[in-house]
Amino acid sequence: MPKVVVVGSYIVDLMCRTPHIPKPGETVLGGSFQMGPGGKGGNQAVAAARLGSDVTMVTKVGKDVFGEEAIRNFQKEGIDISRVNCDEKEATGTALIAVDQHGENMIVVALGACGSLTEEDVEQARGEFADADIILVQLETSIEAVKKTIELANEFVKPVILNPAPYQEIGEDLLKGVTYITPNETEVFALTGIEVTNFSQAQKAAIKLTNKGVSTVIITLGRKGCFVYDGTDAGRMIAGYEVKAVDTTGAGDAFNGAFATFISQGFNLDEAARLSNSVAALSVTKIGTSVSMPYKEELDFLKDN
Ligand code: AMP
Repeated sequence: MPKVVVVGSYIVDLMCRTPHIPKPGETVLGGSFQMGPGGKGGNQAVAAARLGSDVTMVTKVGKDVFGEEAIRNFQKEGIDISRVNCDEKEATGTALIAVDQHGENMIVVALGACGSLTEEDVEQARGEFADADIILVQLETSIEAVKKTIELANEFVKPVILNPAPYQEIGEDLLKGVTYITPNETEVFALTGIEVTNFSQAQKAAIKLTNKGVSTVIITLGRKGCFVYDGTDAGRMIAGYEVKAVDTTGAGDAFNGAFATFISQGFNLDEAARLSNSVAALSVTKIGTSVSMPYKEELDFLKDN
């Protein structure tokens, strides 16, 4: 059972189906409404836990009903909540999500409590870092917390995955301590200025990131799958799985939670990426973020694809 420490956000998703994504100033009469646990950190923690990882979540929630719900939900998923802190002033993070009939989405996030995750909050999890097989962090918290996470992971010589989502400015220095970086097309453009639409652009972007000190680059490319590069050869495309997408929110989270699990279980880079593609593909066949994360028993469905 891989031990995974996830440092990141917990956000309540307030999701509405809509016939189309509204333009500025437009009000659309949508379809069904759903509320559920989300946030990139929380989603990735749930994805890893459902695949059999032993997960500790490091985050902050507000002193409100959404915060209480967060704790209940983590416990239900078997996630260790001893490092989930409560902020006295800020509300629990919320996300307003609209999903259209093609599964495309539009999201506005109010980070609230998880946006004020401090260096001290991360430091309190020192013992968990020491015991971990891998650390997983995103950019949906304060940069201070991300920086401390990478420093602690490096101190204990643990691999650390940085999922640079949603993109915010990070110092280049920070990249030196990163083992795996997992940007999507938007994030890789923000990080490198390269628009990745083909193999050679993916390669160029990946080389740029390894030159900044990252060990391994995985660029996720939606339904096409992902591009992997560890500096030993030209890099490879790992094909995605063809499925009927109903809601692509959380696909990247499914991928990251899965990758943390599989790479810690000893799968090589390509195989871990392929399995993570399959988990992420399954997640887009269901509505919701955290709730759409597959369980390991469901993976048989894609084995022969
Ligand atoms: P993205 O953040 O859109 O790059 O998606 C992350 C991962 O989710 C991709 O690398 C794929 O493995 C998977 N994925 C995303 N969208 C789809 C889709 N429409 N069909 C199948 N897999 C998908």
